[in-house]
Amino acid sequence: MDKDKSTSRPGIVDKRVKRNIKELRAYSVSQIDCSIKLDGNESPFQLPPEIREILGEELIGIDIHRYPDPESRELREKIARAGGVPTDGVLLGNGSDELIGMLVETCTGLTGRVLYPTPTFSMYGLTAIAMGAEVIEVPLDQDFDIDIVSTIDSIQVSDPDIIFLASPNNPTGNTYSEDKIKSIIETAEGIVVVDEAYSDFSGYTFMPYLQKNENLVILRTLSKVGFAGLRLGMLYAHPDLVQELNKVRYPYNINSLSQAAAELVLENHEFVSENIQLIIRERDRVFGELKPLNGIELFSSDANFILFRVGEAERVFSELVDRDILIRNFNKPGRLENCMRVTIGTPEENNAFISALGDILSS
Ligand code: PMP
Repeated sequence: MDKDKSTSRPGIVDKRVKRNIKELRAYSVSQIDCSIKLDGNESPFQLPPEIREILGEELIGIDIHRYPDPESRELREKIARAGGVPTDGVLLGNGSDELIGMLVETCTGLTGRVLYPTPTFSMYGLTAIAMGAEVIEVPLDQDFDIDIVSTIDSIQVSDPDIIFLASPNNPTGNTYSEDKIKSIIETAEGIVVVDEAYSDFSGYTFMPYLQKNENLVILRTLSKVGFAGLRLGMLYAHPDLVQELNKVRYPYNINSLSQAAAELVLENHEFVSENIQLIIRERDRVFGELKPLNGIELFSSDANFILFRVGEAERVFSELVDRDILIRNFNKPGRLENCMRVTIGTPEENNAFISALGDILSS
């Protein structure tokens, strides 16, 4: 900007930006470049060459000068069919992050409260605070499972409009007990969101409960199974609720390239299932190989990553970076002190990580 021409507005940020936003810290993603990238819970597998080729041809044919289908009709129909639910019970988002925002914006109508167990995915709190909701955090128990007594107690006292339950949970990796989730769905007067971002790796889903529980919402995403770049999240809920959520959805939130690519993926999903099975096998192998290392505490995982604790997380993190390996460091005082999360990569990447961590821990 030309400095001379700009009119000075002292304190504009201070005065005009909402206080709740100023107090937040933006969702941060590491900018460190490493050739072995195991920090983002993405899939390590590229599209198979033959599918890449078909995708290229499809994308060439897209009328990019036109807006996309505002309702993503064909894609939604395919997703609904695959999930065994009605099309009007499906809403798509620019990643499930966007769907979390739509839920908080739409459904904080009675008490304005959002409850979730901690530690968990940071976007629930960030989104709720940004949108002016009151956040209620209930610590998970010693095994990172839901502390059902204090959670039910807190639900009864605060009557949250929305409860977010990530199962499997990020960053802890475990699924919550089915019975505990069920009793929360039964007790809560508000909406219970079961975020199944990682359920492909646990093989367990609450989808069958949708029909009988009008307060249940399920979130899914394509991000963890090979398509993080598409930004496609799926929400499944009662059609009456989907109709309300749809009012706050930006009209063209799923761009035409993502719509076409996602349709192609759904039509050719065999390689996706194979990759998921491979990641599950690798996760269990990595767990087994890390277990005997000295100075490590491992938390069992039903997801595509493993949480673990070491003596000095900062040293381990930077020594891994020195070896060109990036993982996610969660070290801060509290439940995640000295904890780090490694995403399962290709067998070669996993081997590099296991051997580097072994070296670092023994030095
Ligand atoms: N839910 C959970 C539990 C997650 O860990 C993530 C990604 N870190 C998301 C939702 C968001 O996924 P996306 O926006 O890529 O669909």
